[in-house]
Amino acid sequence: MQMNYCPECGASLERRVVAGEPRNHWFCRTCKVPRHDHPMIVVTCFVACGKRLLWVQRDLEPKRGLWAIPGGYLESGETLAQGAARELREEAGVLLSPERLALYMTGTITFINQVYVAFRATVETTDCMPGVESQACGFFARGDCPWEHVAYPEVNDSIRQVYDDLDRGTFGVWQAQMSQSRYLLQEVVQGGDRAVQKPPCSSR
Ligand SMILES: [Zn+2]
Repeated sequence: MQMNYCPECGASLERRVVAGEPRNHWFCRTCKVPRHDHPMIVVTCFVACGKRLLWVQRDLEPKRGLWAIPGGYLESGETLAQGAARELREEAGVLLSPERLALYMTGTITFINQVYVAFRATVETTDCMPGVESQACGFFARGDCPWEHVAYPEVNDSIRQVYDDLDRGTFGVWQAQMSQSRYLLQEVVQGGDRAVQKPPCSSR
């Protein structure tokens, strides 16, 4: 992940040791402040109706026309659940209060410099309506998913885990760690250390 220009003034950035920290930070000589390239936070929510999950077909670049679980970047001033609820409303017209979203998965995707936080929720009906960022939306059972047309195949294993949890009727809390060489999805168990390791994701 490389930052070339200052997001405030547009000047080119230089590497500099800041505050004695051993790693180099990007620094703007014009603004005289460090400019960090910290990971972006993506909030998402798996909404289930029975054993079907809500998907949206993107109408924005990148990945226009491809399908994804509703989600997007957390905005300043939002809590994680507020951001996930906003994305559901904007992309699929599904209105759920943040209190109805249960924390479900966290993921670190080092090669795209993102952290995602996923919630889950259950609804009684499949009512949804594509928003301005979506071409379509719908609730799909595992066998009906548009697997050949997904926007982010790197998280397919996480989505399959949701269908597994729907089938077994119990929901763990999961943490995923993804790097170029390794994909690890582990169930977080209170007071225990039961780990489920998945093979490297081959669909990238
Ligand atoms: Zn600057």
